[in-house]
Amino acid sequence: MASGDYSGDDFYCDVALADPSSLDVVHDGVAVLAYHHTRPYWPVHVVVVPKVHVPSSTDLTGADEDVLRELLGVVQLVARQMELEHGEARVLTNLGRYQDSKHLHVHVASGEHH
Ligand SMILES: [Zn+2]
Repeated sequence: MASGDYSGDDFYCDVALADPSSLDVVHDGVAVLAYHHTRPYWPVHVVVVPKVHVPSSTDLTGADEDVLRELLGVVQLVARQMELEHGEARVLTNLGRYQDSKHLHVHVASGEHH
């Protein structure tokens, strides 16, 4: 399935993680994948996603401690590199109606949206 055609609510489990071969991967860890967004909102736009299904950052529990630790580590790695290369970066995750795909993902991005 072409990623642009997806209309479900978990792009990560259904498309990206199901077949990561088409992704521009930045970091492939034990429990976390980071890749360049397939439909970037910002000029430089990486998403960091846990490989296991976690609905959102407010759904994380103590049981997800290992995933959370790795997730934050990868976010830091990607953000540090982006800050070094571009001078600035933003790190954000959406919740509720702001969250398009109901699978926890953290945006690490640089540049202005036009
Ligand atoms: Zn999922």
